[in-house]
Amino acid sequence: MTPHRKKAPFGITTLEDISTLILQSHDLDETLNNIVSLVARRMRTEVCSIYLLEDDHQSIRLRATKGLSRRAIGRVVMRIDEGLTGLAIENGRVISILEPNKHPRYRYFKETREERFHTFLGIPLFDRREPIGVITIQTVEPRQFSPEEISALSTIAFQVSSIVVNARLLDSIRRKEEESNRFARELEMTRKNLREQSREEPEEAGAEQEYRTLRGTVAYPGVSIGPANLLDERLGFADILDEEGIVPEKECEKLEGALEKTRIQTLYLEKRMADRFSADDAAIFHTHLMILEDRGFLKRLTGEIRDKQHSAPYALKKVVAEYIEGFSRMDDAYLRERAADMEDIGRRILANLVGQKTHHLHLKNPGILVAKELLPSDMATLDHTKIQGIVTEAGEKNSHAVIMAKSMGIPAIVGVKSALKLIHPDEPLILDANSGTLYISPSEQIKDEFERLEQDRIRETSRLEKYRDLPARTRDGVELTLRANIGLIGDMAIARRNGAVGVGLYRTEFPYMARSDFPDRNEQYHLYRRIIEGFGGDPVTIRTLDIGGDKALPYFTSPKEDNPFMGWRSVRVSLDHRDIFRTQIEAILMAGVHGPVKLLFPMISGMDELRGCRRIIKEASENLAREGIEFKEKVPVGVMIEVPSAVYLADRLAREVDFFALGTNDLIQYVLAADRNNPLVSKYYDPLHPAVLQVLKDIGQCAERNGIGLCICGEMATDPIHMTLLLGLGFREFSMAAPFIPRIKGFLGKISLADARKIAERALELEEGSLVREQIRRDLLTHGIKVS
Ligand code: PEP
Ligand code: MG
Repeated sequence: MTPHRKKAPFGITTLEDISTLILQSHDLDETLNNIVSLVARRMRTEVCSIYLLEDDHQSIRLRATKGLSRRAIGRVVMRIDEGLTGLAIENGRVISILEPNKHPRYRYFKETREERFHTFLGIPLFDRREPIGVITIQTVEPRQFSPEEISALSTIAFQVSSIVVNARLLDSIRRKEEESNRFARELEMTRKNLREQSREEPEEAGAEQEYRTLRGTVAYPGVSIGPANLLDERLGFADILDEEGIVPEKECEKLEGALEKTRIQTLYLEKRMADRFSADDAAIFHTHLMILEDRGFLKRLTGEIRDKQHSAPYALKKVVAEYIEGFSRMDDAYLRERAADMEDIGRRILANLVGQKTHHLHLKNPGILVAKELLPSDMATLDHTKIQGIVTEAGEKNSHAVIMAKSMGIPAIVGVKSALKLIHPDEPLILDANSGTLYISPSEQIKDEFERLEQDRIRETSRLEKYRDLPARTRDGVELTLRANIGLIGDMAIARRNGAVGVGLYRTEFPYMARSDFPDRNEQYHLYRRIIEGFGGDPVTIRTLDIGGDKALPYFTSPKEDNPFMGWRSVRVSLDHRDIFRTQIEAILMAGVHGPVKLLFPMISGMDELRGCRRIIKEASENLAREGIEFKEKVPVGVMIEVPSAVYLADRLAREVDFFALGTNDLIQYVLAADRNNPLVSKYYDPLHPAVLQVLKDIGQCAERNGIGLCICGEMATDPIHMTLLLGLGFREFSMAAPFIPRIKGFLGKISLADARKIAERALELEEGSLVREQIRRDLLTHGIKVS
């Protein structure tokens, strides 16, 4: 027998450590593993293991070990009437044995490789009086444990017992919770299904029913109250029947005449649309003209007349229906939406064919427009000053209704099933396009409530009006620059109305998205020039195409990707399509002659990409010079910092660019691995996460160190709490959706830079995003600023 080893620092400290371990651990197995490691270390034994009784009460299973093969965990199961561990349970007392392999109850499990051990100590674990497992110790050298050691181990066994019991209890509570959550989910599904059904067959307004509601998808948020303006009186194909005894030549002539008239009207619609909206919005009528002149379309029409002896209207009905059917079956949302164009064209030809005056949609009074769908020609002809809201049955995201609503800032919901059937002309409506709900014939009480909200909104808007022409200034007089993020041409007016100082981010993919083909260099040049000139000398930062991720170009096939946000997107696409990329840069350089413009590259993740972009700028300049076209030679070049690798390379990037644009929308999603559009992980998408704050601080310092410009252009700056922090961290230039500008100016006027700095300093100390938010909210309150 070897002499007694020097006593290890066991006892109270070990018990305290175990309590800490229990507090820190997240689950039973982790806790047990931590305990066995600690005990083996403190007792200087080669092995410490924990076995727990199985549900059958007849066998025990190895749950944690330090010293035996880890592969044995969960695998070694023994009956309680075999082996020494079982004996500890059977006898319900401590078993301490030298040379265990000589004991009659010894049982060898090859998975454990325990033949090397000469000492075995087993202490049973109890739940009240019932044994629930065993903690065992084994040593290579034969060893006698002191009574103190055994007593300390027994105390540990007692503690382990209680955590096992607690863990099992928690487990059963968790299972119950899961069950009740599942039940709640099922209940919600059932309710949803019922709601879906009631969308199709809504309850009739009964005695107790004060109003009816329909639901749809929000296309443009806002609230609107007004009577229903139904748009259901268009000339349709339903009444067109075939005729007997037609003269094909005559029918073909009639058709040709109608087509010609329609072509002229289409040119007129295009012009009208360009005047009212923009050349981009009008581009859709180019497509219509192309269809009206398409040989395939015309051949099919005349084929139906000549070969099948159909009348011209009937031939038209057939061919248009086939086209619509074909488009509707397309996978691609953009192509599906072309069915609406086909319907629009078909109706207009039909009107000309049957000699009916094109039905111009005259809205008598202002109201909420309810339509099956909004066709491109509706966009051109409707008097939009009378449209207070838009509700459509069709629900495609690319629909013209959505584009129209957005560019005019009209609250809109789409995908409202059977709306035309369920709403009567002039019926009072409340459109809550924040939640996607339409209230039909609401009670006075509901109307009052919405009117009050609407009044509040109007008051708030006019209160903020005064900020439009004032500079963005903190309470202690520090001036900031607030620019606008824009996409469609309509955003220009909104930006100016809200007092934006130029454009910090022009997302050029938006005009590309609203078209049916890539715009050529000249078209892009005119568009960019119009924007640059529209901001009267304030700089406009034009970002090159940022497609991919959630932004697809309808006419540009991109591969189906499992992970599009990590995929072929943004500058990666541009660098792989040099012609498209060069054309865009040439257009930007040409437009640069008309005012201050900056060139911004998105999603840069390494120096090679930046240098690739620089090479394209060089090629573009050489091309323009060769062609003798005037262009701006020295345009400031910047990169978006929105990928973690760019954060790490920031100093190197800074040496080769004129400015950074910090795209917090993407940056947050990539830093935190939380999809910016996925509600399931929205709680992880936290702009105030300490890791995000650290990145922001580092990038701010990097830009300052390198003496380059820096603009924050993600949505982050639209929230006063975030703004406080950004201000305190030293940022001075921001770009945001323009409607937020007056609000942020109003907020800035209440806070001093000195206070913001202190608040940011404190925030950087905190370890959780929610704590940061709470702290800033509290700090602002101490300065008399209440934010929600
Ligand atoms: C961003 O990522 O923060 C950004 C401004 O760009 P986008 O939202 O267009 O990706
Ligand atoms: Mg981005």
